[in-house]
Amino acid sequence: MSLPRENEPLHAAGGGGTIPAEADLAIVGAGAAGLFAAIHAGRAALAAGRSLSIVALDGARKLGAKVLVSGGGRCNVTNVRVAEHDYAGSTAPAIRRVLGRFPVERTVSFFRDAGVSFYEEPDNGKLFPTTDSARTILDALLREATSAGVRLLHPARVTGIVRGEDRFRVESDAGPVVARRVILATGGQSLPKSGSDGSGFGLARALGHSVAEPVVPALVPLVLPGGHWIRDLTGLALPCTFTLESAKGKALATASGSTLCTHTGLSGPATLDISRHWLVSRVHAPDARLLLDWLPAVPAADLEGALLAAGARGALGVLKCHLTERLARCLCTAAGAPPAGDLPRDARRRLVETVKRTPLPVVGDRGWNVAEATAGGVPLSEARLESMESRICPGLHFAGEILDVDGRIGGFNFQWAWASGFVAGRAAAGT
Ligand SMILES: Cc1cc2nc3c(=O)[nH]c(=O)nc-3n(C[C@H](O)[C@H](O)[C@H](O)COP(=O)(O)OP(=O)(O)OC[C@H]3O[C@@H](n4cnc5c(N)ncnc54)[C@H](O)[C@@H]3O)c2cc1C
Repeated sequence: MSLPRENEPLHAAGGGGTIPAEADLAIVGAGAAGLFAAIHAGRAALAAGRSLSIVALDGARKLGAKVLVSGGGRCNVTNVRVAEHDYAGSTAPAIRRVLGRFPVERTVSFFRDAGVSFYEEPDNGKLFPTTDSARTILDALLREATSAGVRLLHPARVTGIVRGEDRFRVESDAGPVVARRVILATGGQSLPKSGSDGSGFGLARALGHSVAEPVVPALVPLVLPGGHWIRDLTGLALPCTFTLESAKGKALATASGSTLCTHTGLSGPATLDISRHWLVSRVHAPDARLLLDWLPAVPAADLEGALLAAGARGALGVLKCHLTERLARCLCTAAGAPPAGDLPRDARRRLVETVKRTPLPVVGDRGWNVAEATAGGVPLSEARLESMESRICPGLHFAGEILDVDGRIGGFNFQWAWASGFVAGRAAAGT
């Protein structure tokens, strides 16, 4: 590969300075994972007394859009308890190994050393900055990247990466960079207006990688058909359990927690958590059904017993002990059970079935502009987990949401970005 002369400046990038002709390390994408990788690569080189030129290129005019909108503008940075079973995608042992290299305590101490303190939200272990502002997190990342000697170049959208004998040529719309190593941290496809539009998958494919399919929105509200009775309950929020059940009745996935009825269907943490399982099942298990338990705290047998003993209270009287009258009436109607008076055996059984296992005829999801994460991506099996280096293309590393790992609601996706970014950055710096 013919290279430009060393350190020859090529282009001026709009908001971010001059593109160097050469770098030791080029990081594609300066979101959570890319910035974290850059910081730890820079720090590792500084600690080893080596000079390392690190360039992070990002297509966005303003960096960190996704960090700023995260957690409703508060940024749920991580969770006090993070384990492999909080994630889906690649295998649990592979996810555990990467998470184990940078546990939550290290996330907390990284940010504490950068001047950020956290508070824990009761009941769910979510950690937020005490400022309640995602800006605190983005500012800390940008400050630490600068002091680790990282050059941030943006807008510089990477359009292609070619591997030469021992170096990569990274083509961007602000000019090319030739680098010894590259970290791909372009994120997935969620919130494309933030700059994460799925183009990283094409870059990975061009370098010989596969992308685990289907690539579908994760953490996304689900849509029910127009006229479905759940859509009439807009605004109702209550704790529920979703079960994705195979045609043979096996539970393929479950998600519990607050559930919100909306004018288009269902949202809230439990819906978001089950959404990727439902969407992936459309491809891998199209016969699977999604069921909703409106009353997870009450076993079916207890509910049936209470209905049997309802007497003058009727079905509505029993359900109203646990649920709003509006929902109770909808459930009776959906089950074809009389809300008042005697409840024949068949109607009782149907009502119990409806309360505990309402089938959800989901017709779609709210899409990439609303989804908080991406299911699918580069499989962990194609990377060396101790370095996040490609097994297919030496010198190429991966970090963050571009990988086939997606977490449930609660700070798990950022923890994945921190852990995989740390591993990739340290390794790419050569320590
Ligand atoms: C609304 C919303 C709220 C969220 N809230 C939380 C939360 O509170 N807690 C949590 O844990 N997770 C949250 N997430 C998920 C979390 O933000 C992501 O998992 C995380 O940001 C992924 O980090 P990343 O660096 O891998 O990708 P991204 O943050 O998507 O960053 C990728 C970067 O790469 C750049 N890029 C992409 N393609 C190119 C290219 N070709 N050339 C140059 N640059 C490119 C993009 O501009 C972007 O800056 C939320 C997501 C959304 C959408």
